[in-house]
Amino acid sequence: MLQIPEYKIPIVEIKTDFDIQIFIKREDLIHPKISGNKFWKLFFNVNQYLESNPENPLLITFGGAFSNHVASVSAFGKEFGIPTIGIIRGNELENNWQENPTLSEASKNGMHFFFVSREDYQNKEKLTQKFIEKYPNSLIIPEGGSNEMAVEGVRYMLGNDTKDFDYLCTAVGTGGTVAGISRFAEEHQKVIGIKAVKDNLLEKTIQEWSRRSNFELMDADESRYGKITDENIRFINWFYKKYEIPLDPIYTGKMMQKIFDLAQKAYFPKESKILAFHTGGLQGIKGANQFLKSKNKVLIEFESSIF
Ligand SMILES: *Cc1c(COP(=O)(O)O)cnc(C)c1O
Repeated sequence: MLQIPEYKIPIVEIKTDFDIQIFIKREDLIHPKISGNKFWKLFFNVNQYLESNPENPLLITFGGAFSNHVASVSAFGKEFGIPTIGIIRGNELENNWQENPTLSEASKNGMHFFFVSREDYQNKEKLTQKFIEKYPNSLIIPEGGSNEMAVEGVRYMLGNDTKDFDYLCTAVGTGGTVAGISRFAEEHQKVIGIKAVKDNLLEKTIQEWSRRSNFELMDADESRYGKITDENIRFINWFYKKYEIPLDPIYTGKMMQKIFDLAQKAYFPKESKILAFHTGGLQGIKGANQFLKSKNKVLIEFESSIF
């Protein structure tokens, strides 16, 4: 059994000239190595699994080479003393994964890897079957970590300190986080999910998990999903200088950029109180900079102090 940590997560105001109030809840600070929402999504899944007293507990999950989820599972395993295996997309990484910051950190956390071709990676059911046969007592966590139990865990991102806000905003990947926020929000609150990935089934999946109609999904930036533009980088560099809060280029940076954009267009009624969840993802900055450098692009001027 794992103890539910008693963290007091700070909510800080972002002063702007808009006629609304914007705040950030720093879920990224929940644990030095496990970023934000990923902690709560894993917590109850792993807890329930451990309650069944598995012999030789083992966590297995899937992800790409820069995955925040893979990083979080590896750190979670290390923190709670459970071995981890990552099934990683792209067998070209087999011999040079050490150069990838996410994977080399995950390995330091004790994670073992299985690299699979992009083609084989598509067939998760087959892969899952294979790993269950090999490790029948393991817990297989879906890519991105979202499932019913993960959505339950997101309840802990909300509390007395989040009740006053009119809007709750989060970045969306696999949708578990926004679904949980939607499920547990107050009657008067509106939930905005800012999509960082393209997935046409997302709305339906979130609806099934949330069972409410208080949420709206929006595109981060005109369907340039998963891509990092110079504009994104300039925004997070500017934001860091002004507010001293690091954002990641894929999720939280795009979310804040979108919130500013909406505020600019007077989307929010005057005097609304907006709360944005900082869901972490800062471990990805090193890898992003490596990539940006290779393309001669604008670089992120700060690095995560987390890893
Ligand atoms: C995973 C992740 C998200 C998205 O969470 P989902 O529950 O998959 O939608 C948002 N922000 C960051 C930084 C993440 O790592």
